[in-house]
Amino acid sequence: PLPVVAIVGRPNVGKSTLFNRLVGKKLALVDDRPGVTRDRREGDATLLGLEFKLIDTAGFEDEDAQSLPGRMRQQTEAAALSADVALYLFDSRAGVTPLDETIAQWLRSLDTVVIPVANKAEGKAGETGIIEAYALGLGDPIPFSAEHGEGLVDLFEALRPHI
Ligand code: GDP
Ligand code: MG
Repeated sequence: PLPVVAIVGRPNVGKSTLFNRLVGKKLALVDDRPGVTRDRREGDATLLGLEFKLIDTAGFEDEDAQSLPGRMRQQTEAAALSADVALYLFDSRAGVTPLDETIAQWLRSLDTVVIPVANKAEGKAGETGIIEAYALGLGDPIPFSAEHGEGLVDLFEALRPHI
């Protein structure tokens, strides 16, 4: 069976955009409004020849940091737990929010390998957010742009040892 990679992060950071880019079909709905991805979606992804099953999660949508624990037991938690690798996506332009911190803290408690991905970083726009994200304790974030396809080689190199 293919290794499994789950995309995790707060609403609107670009999870579905990343999913669509790697799966190569518009299976996930991309929208500016938080909460648009209602169901978990999965597809077969290819990244520079690396093949894996990719899961686009939405379990943190429509939630604030306070109500997070209840929903975390649902689809996002299940996806992250069953995955070989979790891609932790954040918006490097917006910086690290309280909900980002809550999600990161939860991810650190899992055995799953976590790779932090600094999305929306095209043209170095995300440098401040990337520096903030070092403090999350998840390792070096990969500067990335799901919309523009930047950072794919670095993502490949981060994923390859784990899948
Ligand atoms: P999700 O809620 O995490 O699934 O986020 P979406 O994939 O639906 O994207 C939310 C918004 O961010 C949409 O308007 C996307 O076009 C935009 N977006 C996604 N990736 C990028 C990126 O790399 N750069 C920029 N500037 N915008 C992005
Ligand atoms: Mg989505």
